[in-house]
Amino acid sequence: MIRPQRKKQKEREALLNDIQKGDKVITIGGAHGKVAGLDNEKNLVWIQFSDTVKIQFDKSAIASVEKINSAASTSTQQLETADKLKTGDAFKGFVFGSKKEVGGEIVFNTSHTGYQEILTDPSYAGQIVTMTYPLIGNYGTNAQDLESSKIWASGIIVKELSTMGFNFQSQQGLNSYLEQNDTIGFGSIDTRHIVRIIRTKGALRGYIAVGDYSVDELKEKVFSVPKMEGSEWVSVVSQKKVRSLTPKKKLFHVVAIDYGIKQNIERLLLERHCEITVVPFDMTAEEIFKLNPDGIFLSNGPGDPSVLRQSISTIQSLINPDKEHPVIPIFGICLGHQLLSLAFGAKTYKLKFGHHGSNHPVKHLVTGKVEITSQNHGFAVNPKSLPSSIKVTHVNLYDGTLEGIQHKTLPFFSVQFHPEGAPVLEDVTILFAGDSGDGIQLTGAQFGETSAILGNDLNTFPNYPAEIRAPAGTLASVSGFQVHFGSKLIFTPGDEADVLVVMNAAALKANLNKLKEGGIIIANTGGFDDKNLTLSKTPANPLENGSLSQYQVYQVDITKLTQTALEGLGLGTKEMHRSKNMFVLGLVYWLYNKTLDHSINNLNAKFKKNPTILEANLRALKAGYHYGETVEIFSTRYEVKPAKMKPGQYRHITGNQAASLALISASQISKLPLFFGSYPITPASDILHDLAKYKNFGVRTFQAEDEISAVCSAIGASYGGSLGVTSTSGPGMDLKSEAVGLAISMEIPLVVIDVQRGGPSTGLPTKTEQSDLLTAMFGRHGEAPAIVLAASSPSNCFTFVYEACRLSLEYMTPVICLLDGFIANGTEPWLYPNVSDLPNINVTFATPRNSNEEPFLPYKRNEKLVREWAIPGTKGLEHRIGGLEKADVTGEVSYDPDNHERMTFLRAEKIARLAQDIPELSISTGVERGDVLLLGWGGTFGNLKTATLELVEEGYKVGHAHLHYLNPFPRNLGHILSHFKKVIIPELNTGQLIRLIRDRYLVPAIGLNKVQGLPFKVKKLQPKDFASNQDVRWCPGCGDYSILKQVQTVLPELGVEKEKMVFVSGIGCSSRFPYYMNTYGMHTIHGRATAIATGLKISRPDLDVWVITGDGDSLSIGANHFVQILRRNVDVNILLFNNEIYGLTKGQYSPASQMGLVTKSTPFGSVDSPLNPLALSLGSDGTFIARTMDRDIPHLRSMITRAHSHRGTSLLEIYQNCVIFNDAVFEPFTEKATKAENDLFLEHGKPLLFGKTNNKGIKLDGLKPVCVDLKNEKESVNDLWIHDEHDLTKASLLTRFFELPNSELFLPRPFGVIYEKDKPTYDRNVNEQIETITKTRGKGNLDSILSGNETWTIV
Ligand code: SF4
Repeated sequence: MIRPQRKKQKEREALLNDIQKGDKVITIGGAHGKVAGLDNEKNLVWIQFSDTVKIQFDKSAIASVEKINSAASTSTQQLETADKLKTGDAFKGFVFGSKKEVGGEIVFNTSHTGYQEILTDPSYAGQIVTMTYPLIGNYGTNAQDLESSKIWASGIIVKELSTMGFNFQSQQGLNSYLEQNDTIGFGSIDTRHIVRIIRTKGALRGYIAVGDYSVDELKEKVFSVPKMEGSEWVSVVSQKKVRSLTPKKKLFHVVAIDYGIKQNIERLLLERHCEITVVPFDMTAEEIFKLNPDGIFLSNGPGDPSVLRQSISTIQSLINPDKEHPVIPIFGICLGHQLLSLAFGAKTYKLKFGHHGSNHPVKHLVTGKVEITSQNHGFAVNPKSLPSSIKVTHVNLYDGTLEGIQHKTLPFFSVQFHPEGAPVLEDVTILFAGDSGDGIQLTGAQFGETSAILGNDLNTFPNYPAEIRAPAGTLASVSGFQVHFGSKLIFTPGDEADVLVVMNAAALKANLNKLKEGGIIIANTGGFDDKNLTLSKTPANPLENGSLSQYQVYQVDITKLTQTALEGLGLGTKEMHRSKNMFVLGLVYWLYNKTLDHSINNLNAKFKKNPTILEANLRALKAGYHYGETVEIFSTRYEVKPAKMKPGQYRHITGNQAASLALISASQISKLPLFFGSYPITPASDILHDLAKYKNFGVRTFQAEDEISAVCSAIGASYGGSLGVTSTSGPGMDLKSEAVGLAISMEIPLVVIDVQRGGPSTGLPTKTEQSDLLTAMFGRHGEAPAIVLAASSPSNCFTFVYEACRLSLEYMTPVICLLDGFIANGTEPWLYPNVSDLPNINVTFATPRNSNEEPFLPYKRNEKLVREWAIPGTKGLEHRIGGLEKADVTGEVSYDPDNHERMTFLRAEKIARLAQDIPELSISTGVERGDVLLLGWGGTFGNLKTATLELVEEGYKVGHAHLHYLNPFPRNLGHILSHFKKVIIPELNTGQLIRLIRDRYLVPAIGLNKVQGLPFKVKKLQPKDFASNQDVRWCPGCGDYSILKQVQTVLPELGVEKEKMVFVSGIGCSSRFPYYMNTYGMHTIHGRATAIATGLKISRPDLDVWVITGDGDSLSIGANHFVQILRRNVDVNILLFNNEIYGLTKGQYSPASQMGLVTKSTPFGSVDSPLNPLALSLGSDGTFIARTMDRDIPHLRSMITRAHSHRGTSLLEIYQNCVIFNDAVFEPFTEKATKAENDLFLEHGKPLLFGKTNNKGIKLDGLKPVCVDLKNEKESVNDLWIHDEHDLTKASLLTRFFELPNSELFLPRPFGVIYEKDKPTYDRNVNEQIETITKTRGKGNLDSILSGNETWTIV
């Protein structure tokens, strides 16, 4: 608001109080109208300007009143003001600001905004500026937009003066600002007329007079104004003392000769790490040399350059130094350009009406580019007067005047315009920061998407807080999202931010060091209250204590403004505050000239089921935009033009999204179902989230119970013929190591996507680090080479995850694909491929064969040393694979040392030969041969490319090569290394690639480091059909033989083809079982059989999957997976061989061992309570719980049959005797002599009877089981507990019949089916969901998901 003018306050108050309806008035902005209404209490007046326009004003906005009952004109100011120009033209208007009459050269400026910068630009000294934009003053004035400490222009002429300062940081109106600075303003003038005069007749002198003057008196005043030609103004504006400005980081020292320097130039030099010594215009060359500068800057300034003879002489000394002084680079702007030209011997001349504005096109003759420039000068250099040593570099496209020169051999150059004032930007980095509850990630992502859709190239960096729920307002809770967008190709998220948007004090404190010097801060003042300052441990409010003086700070009470915008929606304060981020987004959209359309569409889609929240977000978004528009928060509104990108159809994508699409694409192209087993872990979880949406593509996602289960399930799925994939990050990679080794040993496809984060251990879950290269290369025991790939950008994740799938499937081996955390979460525009352009993936399964054909040899290899992929269900190919070393070709278990060596080299050679199937490495940027090679891998691509481009531009012979294939390396890597004198390897680790390069190529590289149907088979199989040709190697007398025999006997009765059966085992004696079965089988790793079986069954529900495990295997290391498979109810049969001892490791006690057991590890007896497998199984929501023993053949067979008939996970505990380490442990239950008294054989619907003659029974006393003797006739059979397999409570009691014989609480041990329940199986649910979603949505269309919902075309 315009502030009251104290001088004439009483006079004004009297006049304004006397206003009546019908009075004619003129507003202080010069608009004429009639009073249509009054509210004297509120001091308001309604003014009718036309039949339809009536506006309410504060009375203070009225400049003059013509009483309805008066013929005379009365003025609140002295309106009888006239300006008499040299042409004799006089203009009548009103004065504002100071009333001090002034004369000067009349110039016009075509800028729409920036009047405050113009007034304070020393180059306008001696001039009266006519603003051609019709409304001036509407964003008020502030301390941030000054170009110097005072107003230098003599006066300002406007069409209409706005009395309201709408800018959020306006400190006072233009009127009072001028008054305070003793500068006159002249309003209500037809400025177009003045411009026509000047353009027609040339530069003119003029005079603003206040009061009644005759024409002759006015003429005299005008003629008293000195002409600009020959006028020297520099001595007036130049500082008298030396002044120093120091950047945070100093790279150069620049001496700036002050002919009228602007603060913005100083700010930009500081941003470029220049220490500046600003010296008076008359400092001598000798004095300047003594300052030992790296460069000299000749500033802008006012007046005629040709009269500055001393300055010209000084510059001549500087460009022609004697032997004692070096040649110092010199750069001039505006007057500095003219003086440099004069020093070269050129001539200057007065332009007819000069160049004053912020939109002048200048052609750069060297690049051919047209630059839109800011200009302010009345003189120009005559190009014909330039000596031959000087070339013209720039010309003005309006009138062809010279705009830039450069010495042909020496480092001297200058431009006539103000490059620092250019309103069109090539690239901008914005860092949005706020509390983790402020929606910063959404804000940044939306801004990025909109920028991409509008044609900018971009790169983003989301920076999540490390803690999930740190207290709001604290530093630990700060979340950031950096967007680097531009009209040029963008390869990085930006080193430093140009703009920092902060929602609270903590966000500022945590991110200020990421803002470039002189950068823009947009601060939510609502986040800088005492509470926020305390929480962020900020002692004083930085918005008030001057500590941000080196930045452009814009304070906006976003909290309050958002709240105001959402009034009436019925939302609570907290809900309203959740829309603050949309206000910010709208404001920044306005600042960078971007439309709201994309975000409005997104909000409509996101909140379509919640109209109130939708309305709140839309209102906040629009409020932010309109706020920027209305209050002109920034003096400049920036524009970043579309980038020149490769033509095609683009979409916006994150690295993790690209990885998901690559997996689906590989699945579709290879025609293999995708199985994705994953455990949630930051920052890889998004891949799981994303893939879970694509059920209609047949995608099976399995959220495993842990990392080991995740990778094991993928291995199981892969064995079944699916594209088996797992993802992980950080310590999850450690946990997967053993399983990856298993897949390498078995030579089975497996894709591991490792989204790398900082470590060790849990480390920095949300932070990026290239920390897993050596883990991927060597992080497994034994010689276990895997293919290792790395993606280099968000969209590049598609290319290399797809390639990982191709190589894994075609080479039958695990591939680890490394993604840097920040590219997985980062975004960029993606020129997505057509489906027809995707590389083919050749997958052929081994085909069925009859018994008269050659036997199948699972480890027979082709020319690439790749074995055949024979999947369960294929007739005649039944075979077993596992972690034990296999005999070459046959795949039988082999301990032959020579065979092991041969197999080790074969597996390594297979990976090495891959080098022939991958592209050669090429130089990405820079020279092919030269001084330095920058060799990188993974997410450092953008940084290295950008650095190389800059170094090459500076003349260095530098090349950049980037590795995407890390094992094996591209075959020509050695050649490329040899073409450079030095190899520098920058990595975000302590040096991992460098170790590989030094080791492999003996190059002294320098590290740069920061820390898968046949008709139903009716033929009945015989037991021998299920026996493999492997020798059974258990200890003589081991209970395992009995179990194997009964399984082989029962299987033919089950009606399942043997090629459809898969036996999966873990580690232990019993785990050899699959080798002895002529079915498909997998001997896997310790405790993980249930996880692998889960993956296999989900991906191949047609298979009959069995798990063979022991008490040591599944009840210790594998207990988690054991519980999980029971809970999920996967349709798998588990045969738990319980011998209460570790057999394979030579006799240590197991979790099932009884207390007091003496073993090698418990020589004084175990003090560890035994685990009750059936109680655990029932407690895990198992749906089939049963017990049997190796020595009761009929019972064992019947239980195997029952287990198999159950739909869901069937758990059959089998007491198995280990003759070697725990012989006769179950003797009381298995031997004839004791069995009848100790065993309780359960039958559904029958009473619980036991004893030699069934003379004993169990009755229930309430819920207490009581053992009764039927002989004593106190109880009969009718009193006994009737077994109900479906009664969970009674089943629970039965599992607790666990005491040992002869103990006080002993009850006979139950055998048989204790519990069975019908429950949908997990594998069925997964697949039915896929079918349902596919029916609902239709079969997935790969073209459709590659393109996404929004694309744009670049031509
Ligand atoms: S150690 Fe025990 S369980 Fe293992 S094979 Fe020998 S007898 Fe069987």
